[in-house]
Amino acid sequence: MRVDGIPMFEEEGSYKGMLFLLQNITAIRRLENMRSEFVTNVSHELKTPIAAVRGFAETLLGGGVTDEKTARSFLQIIYDESERLNRLISDILDLSKIEQKNIAMDCSPVHISSFFESMFETMSFVAEKKKISLQSDVPAELFIEADEDKLKQIFMNLLSNAVNYTQEGGKVKVTVRHLEDDEGRERIQFTVSDTGLGIPKKDLPRIFERFYRVDKARSRFSGGTGLGLSIVKHLVDLHRGTVTVESEWNIGSAFTIELPMLQDDSH
Ligand code: ADP
Repeated sequence: MRVDGIPMFEEEGSYKGMLFLLQNITAIRRLENMRSEFVTNVSHELKTPIAAVRGFAETLLGGGVTDEKTARSFLQIIYDESERLNRLISDILDLSKIEQKNIAMDCSPVHISSFFESMFETMSFVAEKKKISLQSDVPAELFIEADEDKLKQIFMNLLSNAVNYTQEGGKVKVTVRHLEDDEGRERIQFTVSDTGLGIPKKDLPRIFERFYRVDKARSRFSGGTGLGLSIVKHLVDLHRGTVTVESEWNIGSAFTIELPMLQDDSH
């Protein structure tokens, strides 16, 4: 609690009394702490790929690597790590824009089955490489009012996680359902499920936090930034929806998103 006392005077200058301002600064402190923690995390996350790029580049420049195969593998690491750096920076910028509420919604009707057809096309290359089958169960003529670019970002993150954290030969499936509650409010339920590595129960409550990863090495190996799910959560909030997860270690995960079918005008 912070207390500020401000003396108050009448117009002609005589003393009127004190105005006391009692401010609960816990929320402000918490926000400040969160900010500085974020900056620390960001610096740490950026330093790791930069250190890898520098280390491998220095070794190559030192001229000690004469074998062409080793040299190429070092170059590949430099390339992959700079790609990850790129993704990290763009995720950090996205997240900070969203968190400052500095982001406009641009909603229009989205034809859901065409939407996933094009999502799957984008994903097919990576999925085929891992022999993962992409399946969908989506009603043919269903529309949702949403910001299509943000919807793409949501499902690109969920689908790439599903593919990344599923072993070769596994399955990734999108299921879409049209729901209606007792008061006639319509919602669309999307589930992205996989037969992958799963998430231990103890980690589930923290999975949407920035930079939280079940297994750092596994996430880094797959090029992850630790920000994908946090971005998903914020974008779902912007649509006034919910996101939940169910998962079983070594069996698979299912992320379920429910969004209102229509966005009201007050947005
Ligand atoms: P990352 O870039 O590391 O994938 P995310 O925020 O997208 O970051 O996810 C956070 C963590 O949640 C991941 O590091 C991973 O440990 C876990 N995770 C997310 N999706 C899945 C999934 N489909 N299967 C297993 N683990 C997952």
